[in-house]
Amino acid sequence: KEPQSKRIADTQKCLRVSGKHNDLEDVGHDTYHHTMFEMLGNWSFGDYFKKEAIHWAFELLTEVYKLPKDRMYASVFEGDVKEKLEFDQEAWDIWKELLPESQILKGNKKDNFWEMGDSGPCGPCSEIHFDLRPNDEINKVKGRDLVNNDHPQVIEIWNNVFIQYNRKADSSLEPLPAKHVDTGMGFERLVRVIQGKTSNYDTDVFMPMINFIEIHSGKKYGVDEKTDVAMRVLVDHIRAVAFAIGDGQLPSNNKAGYVIRRILRRAVRYGFTFLDLKEPFFHKLVPLLADQFKGVFNELYLQKDFVTRVVQEEEISFLRTLENGLKRLDQIIGSQNTKSIEGKVVFELYDTFGFPVDLTALIAKERGLSIDEKAFETEMNIQKDRSRQAASVETGDWVQLTEESSVFYGYDTLQTNAQIVKYRKVKEKNKELYQIVLDNNPFYAESGGQIGDTGYIEDAFEKIQVLDTKKENDLTYILSEKLPRQTDAVLNCMVDAAKRKLTTSHHTATHLLQAALRQVLGSHVQQKGSLVNTNLLRFDFAHFAKMTDEELKKVEEIVNQKIQQGIVKSEERNIPIGKAIEKGATALFGEKYGDSVRVITFDPNYSIELCGGTHVENTSQIGLIKIVSESSVAAGVRRIEAVTSSKAIEYFNEKTETLEKVNELLKSPKDILKTIQDLLDEKVKLSKLLEDFEHEKLNKIREELFDKIKDKDGLHFLAETIQVNNPESLKTLAFQIRNKYPDNLFCVLGSVINEKPQLAVILSDNLVNLKGLNATNIVRDLAKEIDGGGGGQPFFATAGGKKAEGLEKAVSMAEGIV
Ligand code: ATP
Ligand code: MG
Repeated sequence: KEPQSKRIADTQKCLRVSGKHNDLEDVGHDTYHHTMFEMLGNWSFGDYFKKEAIHWAFELLTEVYKLPKDRMYASVFEGDVKEKLEFDQEAWDIWKELLPESQILKGNKKDNFWEMGDSGPCGPCSEIHFDLRPNDEINKVKGRDLVNNDHPQVIEIWNNVFIQYNRKADSSLEPLPAKHVDTGMGFERLVRVIQGKTSNYDTDVFMPMINFIEIHSGKKYGVDEKTDVAMRVLVDHIRAVAFAIGDGQLPSNNKAGYVIRRILRRAVRYGFTFLDLKEPFFHKLVPLLADQFKGVFNELYLQKDFVTRVVQEEEISFLRTLENGLKRLDQIIGSQNTKSIEGKVVFELYDTFGFPVDLTALIAKERGLSIDEKAFETEMNIQKDRSRQAASVETGDWVQLTEESSVFYGYDTLQTNAQIVKYRKVKEKNKELYQIVLDNNPFYAESGGQIGDTGYIEDAFEKIQVLDTKKENDLTYILSEKLPRQTDAVLNCMVDAAKRKLTTSHHTATHLLQAALRQVLGSHVQQKGSLVNTNLLRFDFAHFAKMTDEELKKVEEIVNQKIQQGIVKSEERNIPIGKAIEKGATALFGEKYGDSVRVITFDPNYSIELCGGTHVENTSQIGLIKIVSESSVAAGVRRIEAVTSSKAIEYFNEKTETLEKVNELLKSPKDILKTIQDLLDEKVKLSKLLEDFEHEKLNKIREELFDKIKDKDGLHFLAETIQVNNPESLKTLAFQIRNKYPDNLFCVLGSVINEKPQLAVILSDNLVNLKGLNATNIVRDLAKEIDGGGGGQPFFATAGGKKAEGLEKAVSMAEGIV
C-alpha cells in the first residue's frame, strides 16, 4: 500500500505479553518493563535514512528535552559473519559526529538487528541508552559495561531501526529497493529520564494510581519490596487490561481474550496475596486511568462505565476461582505423602486457577513442602509446543507476475476477468494451499465480521475452487488448492452468488438490528463484535441486562418494518472520515479507519454506518428477520442471533413442521395449548395416584412378609421373592423388616425389576459384629445364580443381574448359608 505520507510520527499502544516479545513475568518485579506501554515512533518510507534519524534523535533528546550527553550511550550493529552481514560503519560514523567514541558500543545480532518474523523486512538498528546511577557508582563501574545487561538504572529508551533488507523464505537476505526508518521510544521510560526518577513508577504516569492504592490498602509504597511489586503490578496491568477492553478485546477463555484474562488475573492475585485486597478492587482503577488519558486515548474515557463493569465482573469470578484454587491446594497438600508437590499438579494450578509457580511454591513452603519445578517446566514446554504447532504456518516467497495493483470489484459485480498479480504457497497444519492475488478481484475478503467469498476461477482447462478469501494488511488474496496451469492466463472469476446473497442479507440486517436496539434500549448499545455468514447473523453489543421478551419483540418488529418499507441503500465510497462522523455515522472503538471511508445508509434518520461489507440494494430483499436467541457472552455484553431471508423461512418451516407433528400426535385438537396443558395436569394427578397406590401395595407386601418370617436355629429368617417396581422399594422393605427385628435377623429379598433380577441382603448388627456375617459377601455369592454382582455394607448389600430365571434359586440358597 502506498503510505499516505513518507514521514510519519506517532504513538502506538503496545502490548508485550505473549509470543516473540513477552515481558509479562518481569513486569512489577523490575521498574522499566510494562505489559502495555506507549511506543513513540518516527517513520521514513523511502525518505530520510540513518543520518537524519540519528541526528534528529540526538537533537530531540539533548536540545529539546535537555538530557545529559555524558550519560548517553549509543549502540551500533557489529556485523555477523554467518549471515554475511557487515558492521554498520555508516551508523558508527554518524554517531561519532555526536558522541565520544567511549560512549558508542558495538552490539550483536540479538540486540542490534531487528526482524519481526521468519521472513520479511529487516535491518540493523541503533539503540540509545541512559545511565541514571549516582556519580559515585559511575566512578566505580563504567556505564558502557552495563548497557544491555539488565541493570535497572542503565536502560534503553530508544531504538532506531534501519530497514534495508528483505529476508526470504529460505532465510537469505536481499537488499530492499527503498530504505526505511522505524524507531521506537518507550514513553514511560522517557518520562522517567526527563523527570530524573530511578523507576518508571515514580513518575506522574503511575504515581496517582499508586497513591490511590495506598489509601485503599492502608499500605505504603516504598517500604516492603513485596507490596511494592504488587502495587506496580496493579498500576501496570490495569492499563493493558482497560485499554485492550476499550479497543474491543474482551477477556475470554481462548486466544487474545485469554491473554487479557491472564493479565487481569495476575493483577488480582498480587492484590489478593500481597495487599490483602480480598474484595474486588482492581476495577476501581479504571476511572482514574480513563480520566488520566482523557483527550489522549479518549476511547477509554468514553467507555469508562462499560470497561469498569467488565473488569469488575471478571474480578468477582476470579476471586471465587482463587478461593477454590487455594482449597484445592490445601487438599493436595493434605493428601500428599511425599515432601514435594507433583509437577502436574503445579501446572494444573497454574493453568486452571492462574496460580503462578512462585505462589504455589510459597504456600507449599509454608507447610514444609517443596514443588517439583523440573516436572512443571516439562508440562509447560509440552503446552508451549502444542500451541506452537497449532499456530505454525510455513509461508513461501511471493512469486510476482505483474506489477498491476489489485482492485476489488465485488461491490458491483460477482464476475470479472482477471489475471494473477502474484501468488505464494502456504503450508498450515500439513495442508498446502495457494494464496493468489488477482488484479480485477470480485471476491470479498473476510473482514468486519463478514466471512470471505467462495466461488471459482476458470481457465481454458478447468474450474478451480476458491475456498476462501482473506486479507492481510490491505492485501486481498483468494485461497485454492491449486494454481491454473498457465499462471499468466486471463481467468474467469465467479463468486458463489447464492452464498453471497445470504451473507449480504444478514449483513444489512445487522445494521437494521443495531439501529433498532439503540431505539429500544438506548444509545449505550455499542457493537462489541459480529459475525455474518450464510447461515445467520450474530451481533454482540454492550448492554447490562438480559433483554426482556417485550424488548426483543419490539426490536424484531422494528427491523421487520424497515424491511417491509423497502428502504433503498445509499452508499458513499471514499468520503473523508470527518465528514462521515459529522453525518452521524457509527464508528467502532478499536477499529482502524483510513482517512477516507465507505458509508452505508439505510434512511439517514435510521441507520448510518461506516462499513466495508456488502449490502442489499433495497431492504425488502432481506424478506424478513427472526431473532432466534438472546444470551450473554461476557460481563456487560449481550449476543443476539438472528436469521433472514430463506434461512428465516427454513427456520419457520422447521418450527411449523414440529408443531404439525405435535398436532398429529394429539389427534388435531381444537385448542392445542389447552390440550397439552390438560395432559400435563393429568400427568401430575396420575403420578400422585400411582405413588399412593405403590405405598399401599408396599404396606401390604410388608405385612405379608412379616407373617412369613420363620424362626430358624434361633434366627428370624426370611428369604422371599416379591414384586416391586423399583430398587428403592426393595430397600425400604428391607429396612422396615430390620427395624422390626433389630436382633438375629437374616433376610434375603429378590425381585425382578424392569425385567432385571435384583437381590437385597440385610442382617441385624449382632450377626455382623458377633457372628462375623457379611451381607456383601453373601449377596455376591447368591448373585452368581443371576449372572450378576453387587456390593454394599456388612449389614446391607444389594446386587443386580442379567439372568432372571436364576432368582428363585438364589433366594432359596439363603437357607443353606444359615
Ligand atoms: P529491553 O531490552 O529493555 O527489553 P527492547 O530491546 O525489548 O528493550 P525494543 O524492542 O527495541 O526494546 O523497543 C523499543 C523501545 O520500546 C525500547 O527502547 C523501550 O524504550 C521501549 N520498550 C520496550 N519494551 C518495553 C516494555 N516492556 N515496557 C516499556 N517500554 C518498553
Ligand atoms: Mg525487550
